[in-house]
Amino acid sequence: MGVTFKQILSDPVIDERWNKVKQYFFLRESTYDMTCRCNLKCDGCYYYIGDKQYAKDEMDTEKWRDLLTAEKDRGITFVVLAGAEPSLVPELCKVCYDVIPLGAIASNGLKPFPEDIGYRIHISVWGDDEESRKFRGRACLDQQLKSFGGDERAVFVYTFTRRNVDQVGSVVERIAAHGGKVHFNMFSPTGGYTGELTMDAEALHRTREKMLEMLDRYPETVLYSRYNAEVHTDPERSLHARFKCPYPRCNSDTRLGLGRSFRQYRSDLTWDRSVACCVPDTDCSDCRHYAAGSAIVTARMAQHVGSELEFKKWLDYVDTYLAVWVQGYEKGTNLC
Ligand code: SF4
Repeated sequence: MGVTFKQILSDPVIDERWNKVKQYFFLRESTYDMTCRCNLKCDGCYYYIGDKQYAKDEMDTEKWRDLLTAEKDRGITFVVLAGAEPSLVPELCKVCYDVIPLGAIASNGLKPFPEDIGYRIHISVWGDDEESRKFRGRACLDQQLKSFGGDERAVFVYTFTRRNVDQVGSVVERIAAHGGKVHFNMFSPTGGYTGELTMDAEALHRTREKMLEMLDRYPETVLYSRYNAEVHTDPERSLHARFKCPYPRCNSDTRLGLGRSFRQYRSDLTWDRSVACCVPDTDCSDCRHYAAGSAIVTARMAQHVGSELEFKKWLDYVDTYLAVWVQGYEKGTNLC
């Protein structure tokens, strides 16, 4: 007979971590494209693929306030402001914050956000300066550190690609010197992408090793766990193949969880259930994106209660997810 959940929780360390993370089970997420404009042009960007890029920006703050109020009324407690570049419309971000004060912003980090927007701010980093020049059109890290070094809201999200695995050490070192926090993302191609950045099995293997090395070398800087590295660099299975993605695009069940509540609004305030997920137009069969995992893995607690080790891994993942996404949440020491 397998171990019971009660038996797993009889370990006081596990029980304490469980009680810490379960206080956040009230979080209900939706995502919002804030504008179709961006001040960078990045290779493989998921925003400039598909229909969403052609939406006409809604700039009326009162229409945004009405939308967010309706979202709050239907139970949304956590917003992710994204595509294309939210820092170009800070007044709209502020309206969102005034109505739903828990959330995160996905930004390229070139422009600072006003201090009165208290969301977590995720700053995308794509390798060293030379790599950034080649694939984003300019070196970004100096400006990002100038805008966000010492900002308690900031998390620098390093996206691993097939080309930049060995650059991560020098980048994390620079961010650590500024007291910043780092999380890891995986380049996840959009459907039909044929560029140089897509991972292969060898790059996934090297990425996993680098993630663990960074975790050991910069424990105060890197917000990650061994289990994050395991699931995001699995060469055999994408997140969807391993855990079955619950976002509407992959999930026709409208009764429960993300299939019931999640919406992905375009910058004209419309949404389409058939394409709704946190990274629309990404190829599900190769999706290892950090934002996807944050919802997919955390939603699959039931797949992790068969042993104490599996549950500890899941707790590490959820603890990491909360530290990365929720302003003020402090990450604990990884359990494994
Ligand atoms: S791209 Fe990723 S997050 Fe989006 S529906 Fe597919 S598997 Fe889910």
